[in-house]
Amino acid sequence: MENLKKLGFGCMRLPMLDMENNKVDMEQFCKMVDTFMAKGFKYFDTAYMYHNYQSELFVKEALVKRYPRESFLLADKLPTMQLKSIEDNKRIFDEQLEKCGVDYFDYYLLHCLDVDNYAKVKEFKSMDFLRQMKAEGKIKKLGFSFHDTAEFLEKILLEIGEDIEFVQLQINYLDWESDSVQSRKCYEVCQKYHKPVIVMEPIKGGKLVNIPQAGIDLLKAQDEKMSVASWAIRFASSLDDVFMVLSGMSTWEQLEDNLSYMEDFKPLTKEEIETTFKVAKIINDTTAIACTACNYCKENCPMQIQIPEIFELYNNEKRFGMASGSKKKYQDMIKTHAKASDCIECRSCEGHCPQHLTIVDYLKTVAKTFED
Ligand code: SF4
Ligand code: SF4
Repeated sequence: MENLKKLGFGCMRLPMLDMENNKVDMEQFCKMVDTFMAKGFKYFDTAYMYHNYQSELFVKEALVKRYPRESFLLADKLPTMQLKSIEDNKRIFDEQLEKCGVDYFDYYLLHCLDVDNYAKVKEFKSMDFLRQMKAEGKIKKLGFSFHDTAEFLEKILLEIGEDIEFVQLQINYLDWESDSVQSRKCYEVCQKYHKPVIVMEPIKGGKLVNIPQAGIDLLKAQDEKMSVASWAIRFASSLDDVFMVLSGMSTWEQLEDNLSYMEDFKPLTKEEIETTFKVAKIINDTTAIACTACNYCKENCPMQIQIPEIFELYNNEKRFGMASGSKKKYQDMIKTHAKASDCIECRSCEGHCPQHLTIVDYLKTVAKTFED
């Protein structure tokens, strides 16, 4: 892998002008891209479904049209969960090249491999297609992002590892020892098979920013100047075999903060890593539902239940009690959106949840708390 600064610009949570209508603040995004590039960072990560299928177009406008192609690295992903035929591989890939306005992708990933999505990759012969794209120079480096057990990761690497040059994992200090995400175990499998790692969700969809006060106190006692978010990004970046850490930057402040410590990155010390694990324990003890707000469940819900938003309100209720105002916010939300109790238990959401949450059961708990 080339020697890169370890911070990548995740284009799944761009700065917004109007959240409801998916209107990105392009002026701000361009400014953020310019600063990011000027500081020597060059890795951008997009995907077919991000920003309601428009992230690739936003990246074209802010980056591709404004910078020479060789000055940046662009990563995109085949939406394995949407494959319905062999022809879909080429149809989607060609569409992505066009939407991004490029002739090739520097990094291309099979998106979100788990048991179900890997079965689709096999059924629709995606690897044959991607090998061909690689041979034609339309993919420089081929990998996959992964959301399943370490055991299943090993099985995939044994089967297709020869063609795989990197793996993207969910790694953060909260999930490091988690039984469902298995960050550490997955990382160790990648080490065993000599696959460099890209980290996604280092802040766990923002969860490692809004942490309990006791956790903030511990981090500030360790180093008063560093932001809470910085601990999460620096934890992931401190792993030797991680060559890129993605951060979905939505505001100027987030960008500035990230750049301040990633421009000249120094790994955490052993003592600092221990502190993050203590914070993880505090968070785990006070988090009711470990949702990362990735939104994958939402588009599969026939009732259009706002699952991650509802879980967020519930978590705040459990963490901060009445002071969070969550019940009132929930009641406002269900004036215009479906209720937790509208769930028809079809379970099509659960198969798409990378955190393997028992969404139906959680929705029942939420309904009891907020609707009774
Ligand atoms: S189980 Fe409930 S929440 Fe999940 S997709 Fe079906 S209706 Fe939606
Ligand atoms: S419930 Fe699962 S799929 Fe839905 S937003 Fe949360 S983590 Fe993502």
